[in-house]
Amino acid sequence: AKQSGRNRYGFFTADLQARTARALQIENALRRALERQQFELHYQPQVSLGTGQVVGAEALLRWHHPELGVVAPAEFIPVAENSGQIVALGEWVLHTAARDAKRWLDMQLPLRAVSVNLSAVQFRHPQLPEMVTRCLQQAGLPARRLELELTEGAAVDDPVAALAMMDQLHDRGVRLSMDDFGTGYSSLSCLKRFQIYKLKIDQSFVRDLDDDANDRAIVSAIIRMAQALGMQTTAEGVETDGQLQFLRAQGCDEGQGYLFSRPLPADAFEAYLRAMK
Ligand code: C2E
Ligand code: CA
Ligand code: CA
Ligand code: CA
Repeated sequence: AKQSGRNRYGFFTADLQARTARALQIENALRRALERQQFELHYQPQVSLGTGQVVGAEALLRWHHPELGVVAPAEFIPVAENSGQIVALGEWVLHTAARDAKRWLDMQLPLRAVSVNLSAVQFRHPQLPEMVTRCLQQAGLPARRLELELTEGAAVDDPVAALAMMDQLHDRGVRLSMDDFGTGYSSLSCLKRFQIYKLKIDQSFVRDLDDDANDRAIVSAIIRMAQALGMQTTAEGVETDGQLQFLRAQGCDEGQGYLFSRPLPADAFEAYLRAMK
């Protein structure tokens, strides 16, 4: 038993070393990735469950590295957060998404707003409001056309600072949504005071809606709470018609997921919008 215990420990450290080596490799490659133009934004439509119309699009970051291949955001975003590189990368994302949205609006394509994910590290950065305004001005995009997605983690560490940051962003006219809602620890009393326009119901609650009565109860409670607080709701990860029917019957405002469309490269998303017109 002792022997196998040691073996397992050996495997564990080898695995840990491999993962650390990969993280270092990613961190080094990230340094040059921006100037080498290895990033791209994909856009996933957000659809009104009432009308079926596209109301928004979430910008999702993709990294194509010549040797590492396509690296998933779940793998490189945490590395970029730890190294501080997320600040420059986040500015590139905002700049690019604002420019793309402005182009689509100028083409009269049916899109109300573009949503951009903000990391907790960006959210704590004192220059964030200036950066957001700068990107909007450079692109010529009105602030109300931009939505910033925060996670609960960004707000709970320091609720007082978070409240002040949300007020500043709200005063500049951008909308804030709470991403992955239900997976974090934000208290309902905080939620009430935050300038949050929309709750995004995490896909972990949506996935099993067709056969899990608990998930149905949770989702319907979130929707009713949001309605009571005057907030919009978007369900994430909608994949089946059964999920769609349930969400619509509960009064969820919007859905996002493979049922409507996968995230698409900018040109494909533009074609998608044209077909919707
Ligand atoms: P998220 O913000 O919760 O984004 C939704 C994720 O769910 C995306 O994964 C999307 O591709 C995926 N998804 C959409 N519809 C479905 C569906 O019907 N079924 C399933 N199973 N998945 C679906 P992705 O693109 O891999 O992004 C993962 C996470 O990386 C995002 O989660 C977000 O937290 C982060 N991320 C992506 N882009 C950015 C960015 O520009 N900045 C920051 N800070 N984080 C980003
Ligand atoms: Ca998001
Ligand atoms: Ca989410
Ligand atoms: Ca997520």
